[in-house]
Amino acid sequence: MSVLQPVRGTHDLLAEESRRHRRVEDVAFETARRYGFGEIITPIFEFTEVFSRTLGETSDVVTKEMYTFTDRSGDSITLRPEGTAGVARAFISGGLSQHLPLKLFYRGPMFRHERPQKGRLRQFHQVGVELLGVDGPQADVEVIGLGAQVLVALGLKDKVRLELNTLGDAESRAAYREALVRYLSGHRNELSKESLERLERNPLRVLDSKDEGDKAVVADAPLLTEYLNELSRNFFEHVRAGLDSIGVPAEISPRLVRGLDYYCHTAFEFTTTALGAQGTVLAGGRYDGLISQMGGPSTAGIGWAAGVERLSMLLDETPPADRPLAIIPMGADVGALPLAQRLRQAGFAVELGYSGNLKKRLNRANKLNARAALILGEDELSRQAVAVRDLDTGEQEEIPLVALEDRLARFR
Ligand code: ATP
Ligand code: MG
Repeated sequence: MSVLQPVRGTHDLLAEESRRHRRVEDVAFETARRYGFGEIITPIFEFTEVFSRTLGETSDVVTKEMYTFTDRSGDSITLRPEGTAGVARAFISGGLSQHLPLKLFYRGPMFRHERPQKGRLRQFHQVGVELLGVDGPQADVEVIGLGAQVLVALGLKDKVRLELNTLGDAESRAAYREALVRYLSGHRNELSKESLERLERNPLRVLDSKDEGDKAVVADAPLLTEYLNELSRNFFEHVRAGLDSIGVPAEISPRLVRGLDYYCHTAFEFTTTALGAQGTVLAGGRYDGLISQMGGPSTAGIGWAAGVERLSMLLDETPPADRPLAIIPMGADVGALPLAQRLRQAGFAVELGYSGNLKKRLNRANKLNARAALILGEDELSRQAVAVRDLDTGEQEEIPLVALEDRLARFR
């Protein structure tokens, strides 16, 4: 192992890849802003308890995937594996309950020690939203509608489908849990070691297992929908009708769960078949119990998170780089730098050829996909002008220096 390699499961994002990445983030944020969401930027590390308490001591993330270390003050610190816990912590420590309802957008790196593969990294990035303080189904519809709109705006409408389920309220889940434990206990010898553990500590998570043997058992397990009380059924009906009313079709997926105890009612995932096994691109749910479980005031919440790398891989096109103006000085010091500064101040992207003759510099300008070349020749400069060559058409004209910003406007 060379220490001059990126750590396994991490990547450098260069040029094209970083533009795809930014596009996902920017489209998500611009869309979220239209839904009234503002950005929250929380630290990328927190006290370990922030995650272990919220995600549950038994979750995969907490037991196997966290990057945890003791810092020089002796505190146990964890690099965030997801965004919701930090937002909930910020809500409590910042006393934000005065400002409900709150609509928060976040983006940034997340860290999980997983087995790296396509679409599964150890440092990856998410964009996500949280809507806090609204307990009615209208919030669920709005938040899912926002997720759908982000995918539409990224041009991914035809590549994803929305799977929807309900986990019901606490009463419904307790009734279901009992039935599920009864069923699974009858199939103990067919379950994986992990699922036997889950059966003891958090049986709903068996439904989420990726083990083939577990899946076969789960296929015949009782369904949560059969145990919903009236309130939960009603809530789900409203979510479904609301999604219909905004033109976001959902498929009911009765085995879709979020394993953590604080989740309730709505659970959803936008999935694709285009990424192999890593098919979930955007996932979320309602978590009315989370903030009180962390020790804050009882506060409703619903949100989702999307994997930026997975979405970036799905984009049809790489957003183009800026097409700059290339300044090509013919003499030794003919004021190329001040001119570049002036045009950049005026909002143009400008590249300076740093060396070489006219031909070499023009070649380089073409390589940069420059839109036009500003050739600073002695004759033109003596007339207080520059030669401007449109690199798409090859046409060249002389433009007086004083009129440059105006006359170059079409190359912006
Ligand atoms: P998966 O089932 O793929 O492991 P998850 O349930 O762990 O996903 P969430 O915690 O819900 O995922 O995170 C939301 C989104 O973040 C996922 O849908 C996915 O797009 C992305 N994501 C999660 N883990 C990774 C990872 N290790 N590498 C890249 N993207 C990830
Ligand atoms: Mg995972």
